[in-house]
Amino acid sequence: MRSGQSFAGQTLERARRSLTARFTSAGIDSAELDARLLIGAGLGLDLTGMIIAANRLLSPGESARLEDFVRRRLGGEPVARILSTKEFWGLPLKLSAETLVPRPDTETVVELALEMLRANPAANSPRNLPRNRSWRIADLGTGSGAILLALLRELPDARGFGTDISAAALQMAQANAADLGLADRATFIACDYAAGLSGPFDLVVSNPPYVRSADIAGLAAEVRDHDPHRALDGGVDGFDAYRALIPQAARLLGPGGALVVESGQGQTGQIEDLMTAAGLTAESPPRADLAGIPRAVAGRKMPL
Ligand code: GLN
Repeated sequence: MRSGQSFAGQTLERARRSLTARFTSAGIDSAELDARLLIGAGLGLDLTGMIIAANRLLSPGESARLEDFVRRRLGGEPVARILSTKEFWGLPLKLSAETLVPRPDTETVVELALEMLRANPAANSPRNLPRNRSWRIADLGTGSGAILLALLRELPDARGFGTDISAAALQMAQANAADLGLADRATFIACDYAAGLSGPFDLVVSNPPYVRSADIAGLAAEVRDHDPHRALDGGVDGFDAYRALIPQAARLLGPGGALVVESGQGQTGQIEDLMTAAGLTAESPPRADLAGIPRAVAGRKMPL
């Protein structure tokens, strides 16, 4: 090992500062956060634990583990991949090579989905307070289970079905459901989008692959080299998945039910057109993510 790389004998605080500086000079935007997450994981400490232990010295074992993380991070691997975990909607989710790293942008889908459920015109009875209804929810291409598990956490009486063509992804989703105490309300099915489901559903959600095939090569290296391409590649025009899943989802929705999907930049108009063609009504405008980019699109199956 080159000298200067070992953290053994340094205080946690000093290691944190020197690592932040190293990540910054390597051009990593989230240098401070990444340093904190990797040190926390290397030492098995959460944020509070790290503050309390600021002056404790790192052991050779802790240093070796941290050095391995650092080598991988400097090699371009995202922290979520190194630690095989990412927080989404406040929930810690385990990841595998077959699952996309959940993005904060995707929380926009959860927010819009909850709004669409609350405004379900078929549920306006005082005895059926929206939060406590036994909603039926489907998540098509669930990956790590992120969207579905966030919704089940928010809706204590809802039941959810997550589908994915990757059995390895579904294993991760199932493990996440179990860790979060949601396994009794979540069922995972290996199939293409909605092929293995029967309705009716009150809500269908999806973050499908939507990147144009030709654009994959130009994605940020952290995405291109580490996220599964099956979860990114939306075909020549980026709309293959939407064309497949929107008509399927529309058929599965009960009266008043809603479909909410994540959209790539500039794709919301065509997604709304596909929803309209499938008999859904674009009731609310697309919801923007934190960067102001329209990110989540909703369609309602109007009750007759
Ligand atoms: N948000 C991802 C990206 O821009 C794409 C995810 C997807 O295709 N659903 O890299």
